[in-house]
Amino acid sequence: MLTCLQELFYPTLCPMCQRGVDTLGAVCDSCLQQLPRTEHALMRGNKVEQYFQQFQPFHTMQLRNRFVRAGAWLQYSDQVATLIHRAKYSEQPFLAAFLGRQAAMEWLDTGFFDDIDLLVPVPLHPKRLRERGYNQSEYICRGLAEILHIPVDATNLLRVVNTHKQSLLSDSERKQNVKDAFAVTMPERWHRKHILLVDDVITTGSTLSWCIKEITPIRTCRISVFSLSTAR
Ligand SMILES: [Zn+2]
Repeated sequence: MLTCLQELFYPTLCPMCQRGVDTLGAVCDSCLQQLPRTEHALMRGNKVEQYFQQFQPFHTMQLRNRFVRAGAWLQYSDQVATLIHRAKYSEQPFLAAFLGRQAAMEWLDTGFFDDIDLLVPVPLHPKRLRERGYNQSEYICRGLAEILHIPVDATNLLRVVNTHKQSLLSDSERKQNVKDAFAVTMPERWHRKHILLVDDVITTGSTLSWCIKEITPIRTCRISVFSLSTAR
């Protein structure tokens, strides 16, 4: 139903060059090729991974062993910003799913997604979810899931505080803003699971860090991070 409605209101045009494409939410091949890849999947100790390894809850050896890997598919650029913005604010969830599928296809043989049990989107607060109509990170997960055949769990990690829009804040304000904004409702559900936290863009990394902080008390849960893009 949603697909039919979307097709009615949003003709299938590439969101970057406006040329016709044959799949809803798709970016044309030529624009897709131009997006700046990070190659993080093949880079152990990449910048994003280093950032999360230095994150305070992982400082003890015991916890460090549970942080497995992290990476972002694209380097944040003007083009990538336009795409992410559309996927987020222009009622184009299928663009988010398309980018998720594309990332999964490109990284399929790298081993990055090996042993992942669950794909977990960074949640929106219910109020924000109602306003936007969808969570773009959940659609990225759905795109990943189509290729990887890994289930999506979007109901265990919740955003319990409606934070200010991160994009309007300075770096230090961002860090404070998302502190304690998240909660895990059923920790036992993630016992002995390797979860992949999924977001659209890493700017300071503070949102994902506070998600990780909520998950670390689940002692048998291993955590990896995937983002469509990174500004780091
Ligand atoms: Zn295009």
